[in-house]
Amino acid sequence: MTTATNKPISVPGASHAALPSPDLWAPAAVGEKPLVWINGRMVPKSQAAVNVYDHGLLYGDGVFEGIRVYKGKIFLSKQHMERLWKSAERIRLKIPITKDEMVAVQRACIEANGLSDGYIRLIVTRGVGSLGLHPFRCPVPGIICVADQIALYPPEMYEKGMRVVVAKRPRVSIEALDPRVKSLNYLNNIMAKVEAIDAGCLEVIMLNDKGWVSECSGDNIFIVKNGVLYTPPSDAGILEGITRQFVIDRLCPDCNVKIEEKMMRIEEVLEADEVFLTGSAAEIIAVTSIEKDGKTHTITDGEGEVTKKLRTRFREIVTSDSVPEA
Ligand code: PMP
Repeated sequence: MTTATNKPISVPGASHAALPSPDLWAPAAVGEKPLVWINGRMVPKSQAAVNVYDHGLLYGDGVFEGIRVYKGKIFLSKQHMERLWKSAERIRLKIPITKDEMVAVQRACIEANGLSDGYIRLIVTRGVGSLGLHPFRCPVPGIICVADQIALYPPEMYEKGMRVVVAKRPRVSIEALDPRVKSLNYLNNIMAKVEAIDAGCLEVIMLNDKGWVSECSGDNIFIVKNGVLYTPPSDAGILEGITRQFVIDRLCPDCNVKIEEKMMRIEEVLEADEVFLTGSAAEIIAVTSIEKDGKTHTITDGEGEVTKKLRTRFREIVTSDSVPEA
């Protein structure tokens, strides 16, 4: 008879590195952070493990949000909750708790980890099922909330701007899998990001299947031409970024900048006066040069004037005493 054990088992012929980390079974160090909320329990990071039959792991079947915390407030919490619920509806996943309860989970994580400025990763998985694809045989969705830190790009990039490449790989089409769904399946984005990494940079501009500019692997894109700001519309096949919408609704009026949604060809981006990217993790960051088919196109020498104005206003708001949660 075999008995269950929670000790690591050595496998003949397998290298030690191929085995799961023994840390997973180690008792939590006293005061170990971050504490992670996973399916109703608050556990230290080293014990925050999911069931291997969870379809979030098996198939990337689930949805998520990446959310900023500034001065202890959940930045644009309402918008993130609405998007999470829309993403879930679009993949026919019913989130088993209310939006208010989901916010309460996040506040519990912020408090448990003593977070003032940081980042929340909120995940809803399809849940534990069998090895087949059938999503509706997973009775209970999994809910995970991680409150930690994130630094996507080095600090000096925010002053100097970044270099990006244009991906050869198209963004997945709206018909195939609507990019408005922030799903756990990011392989399309990851493989595009690998193109960037291979070219020695960290972000990549993706075109849709019809050749229109859509977005980046983890950020939305804006261009400035003759003082006007342009960004691809939802129809271009993008994730409707919360930061993107904040630029449109709040930063542009505050800074007196005209904004238009517009389908764009890559040539327009290459000939723009300024280009910048937005994302919850990235915030606002200038693109100073773009590589396409091995040729480098210089956009600006450092951060452009409009980008700087918008980023300065953004930083003012998120460091103020009235960080908006809605
Ligand atoms: N596009 C993609 C593909 C993303 O993953 C993200 C989020 N990292 C964004 C755009 C930006 O969205 P948000 O401003 O809501 O973070």
